[in-house]
Amino acid sequence: MAKYTPMMEQYLSIKAEYPDAFLFFRLGDFYEMFFEDAIKAAEELEITLTSRDGGKERVPMCGVPYHSAEAYIERLIEKGYKVAICEQVEDPKAAKGVVKREVVRVITPGTVIEEKMLADKENNFLVALATDGRAHALAAGDLSTGEWYVTQLEGTLDRLMDETSAYRPKEVLLDPALAGNRHFQKRLSMRLGCLFTPMSEEKLGATGELEAALAQQFPSAKEVFTTALLVRAGGMLLRYLQDTQKRSLRHLNRVRRYDARQFMILDEAARRNLELTATLKDGRRQGSLLWLLDQTATAMGSRMLRQWLDKPLVNKEAIEERQDAVQAFLDDLLLLEEVRERLKEVYDLERLAARIAYGSANARDLQALRRSLEALPALQQVLARMDCPPLRMMGEHMDVCPDVAELIAKAIEDDPPVSVKEGGLIREGYHPYLDRLRTAQREGKNWITQLERREREATGIKSLKVGYNKVFGYYIEVTKANLRHLPEGRYVRKQTLANAERFITPELKEKEQLILEAEEKSVELEYQLFTEVREQVARQIPRLQTLAEQVARLDALQSLAAVADRYRYVRPVIRTDGRLRIEAGRHPVVEAANREEPFVANDTEMNPEDRQILLITGPNMAGKSTYMRQVALITVMAQIGSFVPAKRAEIPIVDRIFTRIGAADDLVGGRSTFMVEMAETCQALTQATKQSLILLDEVGRGTSTYDGMSLAHAIVEYIHDHVGAKTLFSTHYHELTRLEETLPRVVNVHARCVEKDGKVVFLHRIEPGRADRSYGIQVAELAGLPKEVIQRAKVILDELEGQAETAAAVQQLELFPAVPEPEAQTEKAPEPALGETEREVLKELAEWDLMGSTPLDAMQLIHRLQQRLKSSRV
Ligand code: ATP
Repeated sequence: MAKYTPMMEQYLSIKAEYPDAFLFFRLGDFYEMFFEDAIKAAEELEITLTSRDGGKERVPMCGVPYHSAEAYIERLIEKGYKVAICEQVEDPKAAKGVVKREVVRVITPGTVIEEKMLADKENNFLVALATDGRAHALAAGDLSTGEWYVTQLEGTLDRLMDETSAYRPKEVLLDPALAGNRHFQKRLSMRLGCLFTPMSEEKLGATGELEAALAQQFPSAKEVFTTALLVRAGGMLLRYLQDTQKRSLRHLNRVRRYDARQFMILDEAARRNLELTATLKDGRRQGSLLWLLDQTATAMGSRMLRQWLDKPLVNKEAIEERQDAVQAFLDDLLLLEEVRERLKEVYDLERLAARIAYGSANARDLQALRRSLEALPALQQVLARMDCPPLRMMGEHMDVCPDVAELIAKAIEDDPPVSVKEGGLIREGYHPYLDRLRTAQREGKNWITQLERREREATGIKSLKVGYNKVFGYYIEVTKANLRHLPEGRYVRKQTLANAERFITPELKEKEQLILEAEEKSVELEYQLFTEVREQVARQIPRLQTLAEQVARLDALQSLAAVADRYRYVRPVIRTDGRLRIEAGRHPVVEAANREEPFVANDTEMNPEDRQILLITGPNMAGKSTYMRQVALITVMAQIGSFVPAKRAEIPIVDRIFTRIGAADDLVGGRSTFMVEMAETCQALTQATKQSLILLDEVGRGTSTYDGMSLAHAIVEYIHDHVGAKTLFSTHYHELTRLEETLPRVVNVHARCVEKDGKVVFLHRIEPGRADRSYGIQVAELAGLPKEVIQRAKVILDELEGQAETAAAVQQLELFPAVPEPEAQTEKAPEPALGETEREVLKELAEWDLMGSTPLDAMQLIHRLQQRLKSSRV
């Protein structure tokens, strides 16, 4: 039987090790793909599918040129695939048989480091998850910045999902227990849309081995990875990075373990609904809270601010420390401006450091690093003048790595080329031998330039010239017309053109040899010197990372100050007694996005004693949702250390925000709108504590009126009696406002509107008490519904209201006789009992089919009922 060719055999054996990645197999100047990979890649990349004789059969093939491979890889990674790069690892000329090939790196969505494939203002976390059923561990690492965090959590897998969402990973590694949990993966993938890589026990290896690997990578491994689960998650992440990157990961040498309880919990729904980092409508950054708060000058600062928003603090002192810094900037706006200006000169130190450690930084990156470092002493001077001890200290202790800047300045050209393999990188005077090689090149070239002049004079041929091309090297060119002036045997003929001859001389070739040799040697030497410099800088990575973090923090703080100044925010008082008071609060994003229309500021007062639940009624479009979100956003802002949009604010530390806002089907998850609504409400009811904040927007709307109303009623009671969380509950069920009378911590407020010329006018003012009515039809009219529909709806509403009042009266009378107040019992005379006829009349009225009757029928009915009542009294 025919066999595959040796090369195909080689391909197949390498591919077997990377079944989940496209194998980019280097063949000369191309990366080729074969078999299934080729078919799929041709489709995904829209490139031509061909075939090649594989010995046993023709095999499908497609390929991309190696010099433009990055763009293709980028597209595959963006689509959530992995790409294994397989290179020739020996010189094809020296190879006996098939050239040796090896996978040198596997690029995956969670491990990209290439600048082009990364969003500069976003981290690119790879997350590893492990569980033992009761406890769970998470490790998150960003290869492009060198950050690495781990934590262990108790509770349901939902908690683990929430914690995972905070990192928005592109790729998640699962231990065997989670890899077998299809339901978990399905739900997580719906939330994050990321790539999952399951890890088998075999791949993971024994705990002891993982521990050893972690200890080798992190000096602090012993203090951080203290449980078997942490070792498992951390080890899994490290293993995967080592297996895919196949190179030094020395910039990943700092790992931080944190307790998830140090931060406010924001689940995926809350992040989404509050539009913290992306809008609900189209997932864009513009229009989100982050967009508003991000006035950072560096990408590092922007990423740090985002991390703050992902994890607001719950520690009063930590929040106040940030507030102090923001205050200090606000107290001296000129200094703030100076800090911003200095920061603008700083490049992305974190990612530069990562690329340097990784060996992928070029000379331009080193110059960017140098310029950044040179800008920092001026920043230190500004900090020294600040009236804020922590910032002054930060400035004093900032190690701006002058030695690194000096080394780069001494070694690298100011404006080097992108490529590191074509020379022109190393500065004159840095290395004596390189200087000598360059002198030789220069002298050789000078000699050749002189040659043209000398030969013109000697031969009298004015048009004689010396040229160079890649095939023949240097030559002397004489036009055909002048050949007769050329002494016989002066030059050696090399090439004949249509109207000229090209010649060489032994001396010219000798000089050429010298120049080319010197050039080749110097290019090689430059590359070697460059990698040496890069290596020296790489040894300072920990210092650069510390510096990057300080700069990022400073940038995030100045950004908060700049925003506070621009929008006139105030410093909130952070309380630990659960009391919330916002005077003239505003929704930060609505206010900023629509600056023409003034935003109507509103007060909010909540406390655990008698204002735990605010029941908000009011028409559609009146501003209920905006008001609820505004309270939540002000709370989040306060807990990241930001100032807030209000005249005055006192904010209690909140441990978690729950949101049930808007309707969303979860069709993939097999849950209807109402089911999602109830599931989210359930989460709030079962997991909230007294320190939580719950936003419930029109809960119960997804089902029939009475079911919905009963549920809403019961939910409010439950939160009041059992949960104790501060709750903002907006509703169109006006009946619920009666709860204020029976539940002592429920308070009614409403979004006030007025009717003008039959049209509703929204005042956007939240006032005490309940709304008088819904104005639903008027709002529909504003939305432009046809006149006929509006008119008819008004008639139906009148009828329904009539029915409802009657039905309510019947219910009140028949089924639920009002329970009299205790003191009233003694004072008030008992209600006279209804007679037989009156009961029958009311019953008939309640059961009458109003919608199926004409106005005349109604007249007749009323007449008949009236007669019966009158006759019964006689
Ligand atoms: P629905 O019941 O239909 O959900 P709603 O009462 O929740 O309506 P919102 O969505 O909060 O109303 O607000 C409607 C619009 O009114 C918003 O788009 C917002 O721009 C504007 N608005 C809300 N509050 C204010 C305010 N305080 N000042 C100015 N404009 C506001």
